[in-house]
Amino acid sequence: MSDATRKPGQLEEELRGLKNILSVAQVVVSSLELDEVLDNILGSAMAIMEMPAGSIALYDERTGRLELRVAHGLSDAFTARRRWRVTPGGLTATILDKGDLFVVEDTEKAVFFRNPLALAEGIRSLIAVPLKIQEKLIGILYVDDFVPRRFDATSLKMLSILGSFASMSIDNARLHARTLELACTDGLTGVYNHRHFKKLFADELGRARRYGKELGLIMFDIDDFKAFNDRYGHPVGDRVLAAVAEILRETLRDCDQLFRYGGEEFIALLPETDLQSALAAAERCRRCIERESADCLAGITDRGVTISVGVAVFPRDGETFDGLLKAVDDLMYVAKREGKNKVYHMP
Ligand code: GH3
Ligand code: MG
Ligand code: MG
Repeated sequence: MSDATRKPGQLEEELRGLKNILSVAQVVVSSLELDEVLDNILGSAMAIMEMPAGSIALYDERTGRLELRVAHGLSDAFTARRRWRVTPGGLTATILDKGDLFVVEDTEKAVFFRNPLALAEGIRSLIAVPLKIQEKLIGILYVDDFVPRRFDATSLKMLSILGSFASMSIDNARLHARTLELACTDGLTGVYNHRHFKKLFADELGRARRYGKELGLIMFDIDDFKAFNDRYGHPVGDRVLAAVAEILRETLRDCDQLFRYGGEEFIALLPETDLQSALAAAERCRRCIERESADCLAGITDRGVTISVGVAVFPRDGETFDGLLKAVDDLMYVAKREGKNKVYHMP
């Protein structure tokens, strides 16, 4: 648009819009933490549109579902529905079909708008912004109001630009999270690595001390694994290691953490767990490995592996990082000496 065709004051308004966008962009890209990024995006979107409520749902390509990640100004009843599928003909599918900003200025006048949850919430106007990276959907940003609204083209344009910044920031934050995850994960088995064990063990020990709680520690070592490798080959050994990790992870509780401690050694941290429960978990693991580890090798060998297990509990078996590790390691070796495929603890 040439200067001659601009209305009076329009240049100032466009400049103000640009300045706004710049400051919004600075806020949105200022963090790499996904939750903080999402919070910043939503806050900026609500401010630009002067709307009192909103939310962001992220799309999970694997499950084909959207998951609500952040919401402001909406009731618990509305936000209780955390995940939903894109159903053909539904509101989400309509938003995605349009591909660009989806604007409803009055939900009562929009005949296609039948979303019962939004209607019950009293949402009268809304804008949905599909968030995309290279045409791939990564989420939807919603801003809502409880009264009908008319939206001017300048604000909508700004919201659309914010949407592009938002998509890039979300992608960046996810990449960052993935990098952090890879840095503490063991590549072969997918469980946490030794380095991460040192950090989490120190953290959990600190917490147990502070709150006067117990902390269970279980060390697992595969029996005669050198002979197994020699007989069936290293690649088969690798498959067993991955299977053992998988069985242990399945057998332990969700709140317990499993680590690959060394070559064929694993260690588990069991927060707020007394000796009796830790022993029960260890015994369950030993039995499952004995029973199920051969299953992953069907067609190659019908022989699985067994594990020897040591169990120690803070504070009864040691009070320090090194003391507890030595205790659990010694106990695992007692299990070896006593014939393997056994669980040992300090009497
Ligand atoms: P024990 O019953 O006393 O534990 O005997 P072991 O043979 O299991 O113990 P040892 O410490 O002598 O040998 C451990 C073996 O684990 C040797 C090594 O080849 C194998 N191992 C360690 N890391 C890996 C791995 O990543 N892949 C495979 N396939 N084998 C591994
Ligand atoms: Mg070993
Ligand atoms: Mg071994």
